[in-house]
Amino acid sequence: KVTDHLAQAEQTLFSFEILPPKKGESIDGIFRTVEALLPFNPAFIDVTYHATQLVETPDGKKVPIHKRPGTLGVCAAIKYKYGVDTVPHLICSGFSKDETEDALVELNFLGIDSVMALRGDPSGGDSSFVPAPGGHRYAVELIDQISSMNSGHWLHSTRDKTESTDFCIGAAGYPEAHGEAPDAATDLEHLKAKIDAGAGFIVTQMFFDNDVYFRFVDLCRSAGINVPIIPGLKPLALANQIEVLPRIFSLTMPKHLVQAVQSAQDKASVRQIGIDWCTKQSEELVRGGAPCLHYYTMGKASATKQIAEAVFGSA
Ligand code: FAD
Repeated sequence: KVTDHLAQAEQTLFSFEILPPKKGESIDGIFRTVEALLPFNPAFIDVTYHATQLVETPDGKKVPIHKRPGTLGVCAAIKYKYGVDTVPHLICSGFSKDETEDALVELNFLGIDSVMALRGDPSGGDSSFVPAPGGHRYAVELIDQISSMNSGHWLHSTRDKTESTDFCIGAAGYPEAHGEAPDAATDLEHLKAKIDAGAGFIVTQMFFDNDVYFRFVDLCRSAGINVPIIPGLKPLALANQIEVLPRIFSLTMPKHLVQAVQSAQDKASVRQIGIDWCTKQSEELVRGGAPCLHYYTMGKASATKQIAEAVFGSA
């Protein structure tokens, strides 16, 4: 379990997130990414879940499909090929409670006992999140359902007595507040509700200014949130991300980073600026006592590898 890794750690741990391959691609690219980062001893590897979306096929038709299916399969493949714990993301979007229960049964049988419980974003065209029929509206409800299974209370069972599961549950936290929240204090109350419902650790949205993280941890502690708070880090890779990331993820870009990217001569320089910035962030977070550094790789290992070499020692 993620919480066991954190409890036993004597120093800051390393972990990362990957995306399942696009529909039609093989899993080999995932294996290459994992193999490049394995030498840094990841405590766990997260695999994202992608809701159904309208995707254009080669013949120009738009069809509602899972563009990146296979979260569970990727988790199981990595866990049993490399012996590393994997953490599937489970979302409310597109899942009825029954389907959620069945997904958890699959995880339980596969021996995957940590999950990130998330709501998912509104689907394209919807201004607010629309739950699936018979599904959850907020991540806290999903966490409640998993906690109930952990206490032996299932939605449905064909037996009088049901087994208890033993999932360790992660929740998303937003150091700069979630984009839909009316204010940071309200968002923090909602985060507290997720912890009270049974989440045992938090992984944060990416941020580019460590003060934002350290302030958030202080606010969480004052609000009675005492679980480990794992910072999520993304090495900036492209110049347009200085505008795109704040818009999509409701976060701020430090002035110095923006200026450095704007004066960069070419793509390679931007990439190196992103790596250097993320390396400095990582080193400071280690010094500040972060329990684990969690990297959003977007499926590409090379930037994270360079940062891990600098921060966790060369492999
Ligand atoms: P929630 O905790 O439900 O919060 C959503 C909004 O509702 C917030 O504004 C919150 O303040 C508000 N809220 C919560 N409870 C209540 C309540 N009771 N009443 C009123 N308002 C309330 N998305 C994916 O689709 N797949 C992934 O794999 C994925 N992985 C992620 C991993 C991390 C670490 C993070 C930070 C995000 C990830 N996301 C993923 C994105 C996430 O699904 C979106 O940010 C989504 O908009 C919110 O998810 P949540 O779990 O934080 O939702």
